[in-house]
Amino acid sequence: MKQNLFVYNTLTRKKEEFKPLNAPHVGMYVCGPTVYSDVHLGNCRTYISFDLMFRYLTTIGYKVRYVRNVTDAGHLEGDAGDEGEDKISKKAKLAQLEPMEIVQKYTVGFHDVMQIFNTLPPSIEPTATGHIIEQIEMVKLILEKGYAYEVDGSVYFDVEKYNNTQNYGILSGRNLEDLLNNTRALGGQQEKHGKLDFALWIKAKPEHLMKWPSPWGVGFPGWHLECSAMSQKYLGNQFDIHGGGIDLVPTHHTNEIAQHVACCGKNPANYWVHTNMLTVNGQKMSKSLGNSFLPHELFTGDNSILNKGYSPMTVRFFMLQAHYRSTLDFGNEAMEASEKGFKRLMNAFALLNGLKADKTTEVEIGPLLERCYAAMNDDFNSPVLIAELFEASRIINSVNDGKLKIDEVNLQLLKTLMNTFVLDVLGLKDEQADNDDLPNILNLIVDLRGEAKINKDYAMSDKIRDGLARIGFQLKDSKDGTHWSKS
Ligand code: AMP
Ligand code: ZN
Repeated sequence: MKQNLFVYNTLTRKKEEFKPLNAPHVGMYVCGPTVYSDVHLGNCRTYISFDLMFRYLTTIGYKVRYVRNVTDAGHLEGDAGDEGEDKISKKAKLAQLEPMEIVQKYTVGFHDVMQIFNTLPPSIEPTATGHIIEQIEMVKLILEKGYAYEVDGSVYFDVEKYNNTQNYGILSGRNLEDLLNNTRALGGQQEKHGKLDFALWIKAKPEHLMKWPSPWGVGFPGWHLECSAMSQKYLGNQFDIHGGGIDLVPTHHTNEIAQHVACCGKNPANYWVHTNMLTVNGQKMSKSLGNSFLPHELFTGDNSILNKGYSPMTVRFFMLQAHYRSTLDFGNEAMEASEKGFKRLMNAFALLNGLKADKTTEVEIGPLLERCYAAMNDDFNSPVLIAELFEASRIINSVNDGKLKIDEVNLQLLKTLMNTFVLDVLGLKDEQADNDDLPNILNLIVDLRGEAKINKDYAMSDKIRDGLARIGFQLKDSKDGTHWSKS
């Protein structure tokens, strides 16, 4: 079935049959987070989408080397990533911490969130600071090839010169004239020869915290360079998939392609895959717009936009119910519908092992299994897959109710289908199994609330009751004590 996978390629703007350079091996590079703050739910959507692709490619037999970097230096505040202050240094100064303390804190936080969402770790997770030498070597090569110039300790990529022989706007589909007319002048402009030129190496001001010696003096690498250097190091001059959020197309990925072509004469990746944005009221969720919220706020319901909390797997399911190339708008109603849908699927899953096979069958699972593969082979179409899994759930419920007969062969196929697509491909898991200690924890909280009441601390007692209600637990006070139930 793997020969039929089709993937939408931003480079060609169409769905193309996926043909790896070196099957069964697949090289996939995804731009990782800049670890200067907690990842928000929008970032999580992108990484959950690539986790789905990683899981599916692996399920159909590919041996995937999945490289996802951590940006721990060089990402400046401006849109293009090479103006303003370094995001990590800025945070370090504010918090009076070492930049590497900031990096450590938010890298650990990112890993925790990824684990809570049941995403698989990448095969390699390289950092920008761990690859300064590779980046310097790449700048040297681009200078040698004549596509960059040095000004007072900084090195810039010469976009117009590059565009004389190559197509700078190949990924975004925009020509240079259009880009030149519609780009505002950025910082450091006085040093740049052209408006679109971008920094490969930036001279460090004396107060700059993260800096390294180089042939051009003390400085630090430009943001786009790290991904070119690390993807080439771990996946070679040409690899299969390069991914990230769609917002990375016009600058970060466009510049990555230019750097790599300048060095190696080739576009680094055959398939450029981009995920669409998580939005709130139609607006991209982003830290700078102030409409982002953190995964743990979603789990506890502790944010004014939320009616209540939702479990991590409900959130993952919510995200997978949209195709990765569609925008997905966050809302309470949609979350509640996902909660119901997820429960329906997992309830059916739980019945699977208890089903009894008959001698005859009134249902054939083969075509359903094929439709599941067909959905995923159509550019990882998880919403269509989920619709097929609801059909499988309907069959499971009917067999369980004695309304439908299934024989041993079809029952085994049904089990394979559910295990493969619910657990391995969608990466969903039964959260009930993780929650064996929950009743004990709730009983303890109920006891603490009882003590608060005895001490006439009614504010605390109400806070506990309301807090539990927000995450879906009701408390009932009666003569023989307080009892909790799941609402
Ligand atoms: P950053 O740490 O800002 O470089 O972002 C990390 C990744 O999250 C990038 O691939 C972005 O494209 C992606 N991203 C940022 N905001 C959103 C959003 N609202 N929805 C989906 N992905 C996002
Ligand atoms: Zn990148």
